[in-house]
Amino acid sequence: MRPLDYDRLFIGGRWHKPATAQRISVISPHTEEQIGQTPHAGPEDVERAVRCARTAFDDGPWPRMSVADRMAKIDKLAALYSAQTDEMADLITAEMGSPRSFSRLGQATGAVAQMHLGLATAREFPWAERRPGLFGDVHIRRAPVGVVGAIVPWNVPQFLIMPKMIPALIAGCTVVLKPAPETPLDAMWLAEMLEEVDLPEGVVSIVPGGRETGEALVRHPGVDKISFTGSSATGRHIAALCGAQLKRVSLELGGKSAAIILDDADIAHTVKHLKTASLLNNGQACVAQTRILVSERRHDEVVDALSEMMSGLQVGDPADESTDIGPLVAQRQQQRVQGYIRAGIDEGARMVLGGTDKPHERGWYVQPTLFAEATNDMRIAREEIFGPVLTVLTYTDEHDAVRIANDSDYGLAGSVWTSDVAHGLQIAEQIRTGTYGINMYTLDTTAPFGGFKQSGIGREFGAEGLAEYVELQTTVSAQKLPDLT
Ligand code: NAD
Repeated sequence: MRPLDYDRLFIGGRWHKPATAQRISVISPHTEEQIGQTPHAGPEDVERAVRCARTAFDDGPWPRMSVADRMAKIDKLAALYSAQTDEMADLITAEMGSPRSFSRLGQATGAVAQMHLGLATAREFPWAERRPGLFGDVHIRRAPVGVVGAIVPWNVPQFLIMPKMIPALIAGCTVVLKPAPETPLDAMWLAEMLEEVDLPEGVVSIVPGGRETGEALVRHPGVDKISFTGSSATGRHIAALCGAQLKRVSLELGGKSAAIILDDADIAHTVKHLKTASLLNNGQACVAQTRILVSERRHDEVVDALSEMMSGLQVGDPADESTDIGPLVAQRQQQRVQGYIRAGIDEGARMVLGGTDKPHERGWYVQPTLFAEATNDMRIAREEIFGPVLTVLTYTDEHDAVRIANDSDYGLAGSVWTSDVAHGLQIAEQIRTGTYGINMYTLDTTAPFGGFKQSGIGREFGAEGLAEYVELQTTVSAQKLPDLT
């Protein structure tokens, strides 16, 4: 295991003494004991990081290098990182309780995959193009957006950093990254790798901290763009702050996705896949399929199958290979989820399985909990719970299923389960969400990902994700333009 105590901050690519003695203590959600510490970056550290990033962008070599030279640096980072994915996954599991199987495949290996996909996208990206215009050809250039403030939550920390940092760097931006206070250690380790890659001074800074640190970054006039992943409440606040400065902003926010099980669905297949699509990462996934919609005709069968699947889940030490559900990230999250379970009972849903009792004395665990006979106006159907709690709702006919699925503030993901794929596609077209699955739900990190409605603004992954980090510059010329493409 890596050293887990850091006393310096990675600012502008060099390790600096923090402005204050404030520390972040990282507590294992399994043992409730401290596993490491980092400095807590305050507003003065953010100020220093932004100043470095600004100078590096305005006067430094990074934005002026060729795209190919910048890509070579990312290639080097990917090679360094891929030699250490297992160790990185174990660190993430220790920090935030994600089961090892998921932190290996979904988090650390997923982070490397994103670097490679980012490089592949950049190879095809139209950095410069010529188009016929009104007065002769016009030259269109995709210029880096500038200094990027990247803010991420704790739930899949490395996987969420990459779709911001990698395209931003390839585009020629400089980046100040703020990881969540629950997961600063993996970000510090990433800083060590970035140091080895030897980027020009000022190009990347990492400032672990909470709300105040993030807000200092958002408010800073030296930052050109904020790329945020987190809750819709925080996203709304950040968008307002950015709006006041006309700062570019992209937002990846929460979800409350509906899985529509049609009458012709294979229930065994559906429930087998919902085990991950709904309960992945201990239920702490923005795309979790947490509203299960089924007709009266297949209701009991679905509830029985879900109940059987959920009662068989292994709840325990996330470092154990056989664990399905680990602890939640923090005690406040455990209490929040228990609060939702109480709300479900109080509002009159039938609790089929689970409850508020802790499954283990130590650690921030909650029992996988299943509600049936719920209605879509209940809090357990409307609000993002972010834990292993599923809610079954009944629809009268397909039209009603679509109506219920769309009756949500969110629009991040969704799925339909049917033996007729063509019909599944027709259902997908009626649902107001950014991503959709037919007989499966998973992210495809080659394709645009993001939210409709309160689930966000903008997209990550693919060419659309890279486009979030460029400004379009159009040049006309009195003389014939040379071909620069
Ligand atoms: P959160 O909004 O509380 O915090 C997210 C990040 O923002 C953290 O780093 C936090 O320190 C920072 N922050 C908090 N207040 C801030 C402020 N005023 N200014 C600047 N930064 C601030 O979110 P959370 O509860 O920690 O994370 C879970 C949420 O993230 C869920 O809603 C989940 O759905 C969402 N999420 C979305 C996606 C996606 O891609 N759409 C992916 C993962 C998680």
